[in-house]
Amino acid sequence: MFGIISNLLFPSKHICLICKENYGHNRFICDNCQSSLEVVHEEIHSDSKYIKKVYYSLFYNRFIRELIKKYKFNGKNYLYKAFGEILVETIEKNNLSQDIDMVTYVPSHRRKEALRGYNQAELLARYIAEKIEKPLCRENLVKTKWTEEQSHSNKADRVVNLRDSFHLKKPEKIQKKRILLVDDLITTGATMEECGKILIRNGAKEIIGLALTSSKNN
Ligand SMILES: [Zn+2]
Repeated sequence: MFGIISNLLFPSKHICLICKENYGHNRFICDNCQSSLEVVHEEIHSDSKYIKKVYYSLFYNRFIRELIKKYKFNGKNYLYKAFGEILVETIEKNNLSQDIDMVTYVPSHRRKEALRGYNQAELLARYIAEKIEKPLCRENLVKTKWTEEQSHSNKADRVVNLRDSFHLKKPEKIQKKRILLVDDLITTGATMEECGKILIRNGAKEIIGLALTSSKNN
């Protein structure tokens, strides 16, 4: 009995942030989920004009693909904690913190956000900003044009489709700043590129991209 109470008062184990079934100790993720994640914490090759470097945390496999779907479309927004922990690990492993002045995220259209109740990339960026103790730049970069999520379209189509879809409301907030731009998933890289373009053209000094996973080269 005392064991149960002391476990409640002083939990030595934490319920897994992904499956919410097993106990986890390694960054609060259970061994089962951990073994389904293919951790990389590496830079992705990028030929971007505006983004200096892009990093990603996990290899794009079926497990993470399904998890992201649940995160985006099935209201499982609690997953931001597990994802946030994994992203912070990528930042630590690559020593990125010293090159970052502020954190921001790829915005979604306000209508989409209203449907979901949250912006999945903003939740991640907020978590990261708190953990690495950098300011979060929010409600500045906004998406003004409605675009369908066409995961099957190629990069050239995406680029045309995304043209003039983003707008920066307060350029004075980002002057000469080195910005970490966060998203959950990179598909073609066109979205991140477009956001990077807006930030750089409006006075940001440098952009580093960070995504949980990337399906770009799969
Ligand atoms: Zn688990």
